Amino acid sequence: MSAVWIDNDPSPAPAAKIERENHKLEKRLCRLVGQAIGDYAMIVPGDKVMVCLSGGKDSYALLDILLKLQRRAPVDFGIVAVNLDQKQPGFPAHILPQYLESLGVPFRIEEQDTYSIVKDKIPEGKTMCSLCSRLRRGILYRVAGELGATKIALGHHRDDLLQTLLLNMFFGGKLKGMPPKLQSDDGRNVVIRPLAYVNEKDLVRWAEVRQFPIIPCTLCGSQENLQRRQVGDMLRDWDRRFPGRLDNMLHALQNVVPSHLADPVLHDFRNLAATGVPSEDGDKAFDHEELPVAEALPALQVIKL
Ligand code: SF4
Repeated sequence: MSAVWIDNDPSPAPAAKIERENHKLEKRLCRLVGQAIGDYAMIVPGDKVMVCLSGGKDSYALLDILLKLQRRAPVDFGIVAVNLDQKQPGFPAHILPQYLESLGVPFRIEEQDTYSIVKDKIPEGKTMCSLCSRLRRGILYRVAGELGATKIALGHHRDDLLQTLLLNMFFGGKLKGMPPKLQSDDGRNVVIRPLAYVNEKDLVRWAEVRQFPIIPCTLCGSQENLQRRQVGDMLRDWDRRFPGRLDNMLHALQNVVPSHLADPVLHDFRNLAATGVPSEDGDKAFDHEELPVAEALPALQVIKL
């Protein structure tokens, strides 16, 4: 007779279960941020990291996780939080200072009325974001210099990286994403994205767990760019229907094979010639590519192209 398994354990109290899940989420966030920082040498001993806080969930999470890592990391680094108050109508200017004071983290609120400039320059109904973000960028670079910051940390996450990649492919004709680390266009700053491996769903949950005092990003009245919204919806839909796909896309960004793209600058196709030396890893140009099955896909073992 086959054994009957009876689970005598009472189901955990919802509160305990929630606490366990939250703890797992916190560990995952710290692990992924720590991993990204390590993989790209984003923070080195003695760095002063300027964390740009917009009042949105991503930048709150960035600061929160970096503060946790700062307490445990083997590397000694400083953090200073910066918010740019762009004087948008209804901006609740007290929220961030109150929050940052409660954390005891050094911070600076930079007040610059870029809102009026943008309103003045951009015709009604046109999207204001590109001028607005250009102005913001210049101000933040200047503030980084004034504060002696050696790194500028932004709250872009995995889904932002992928969205940018697809937007550039679809509308810009470029294979270009949003790198985890870069030199700023003024050549004077290093910008880092420690949330590069973190998915947006986790950040939404973390914002709920931590009850961040979110400031809505719609105060300026600008509409989100339609193409950006469509690509974002597409990524969310893929994430729902094909678990693992977005992580695979991120891995693809870290695993580029220039000889199998078509950029003659990245790979010298012109001078390519047969060497006469066989290579196991060489291109089997006539074969179908065999792809490993994504773990989450049931039954199918090999997808043939
Ligand atoms: S949404 Fe508003 S605040 Fe944000 S970049 Fe666009 S114009 Fe600026």
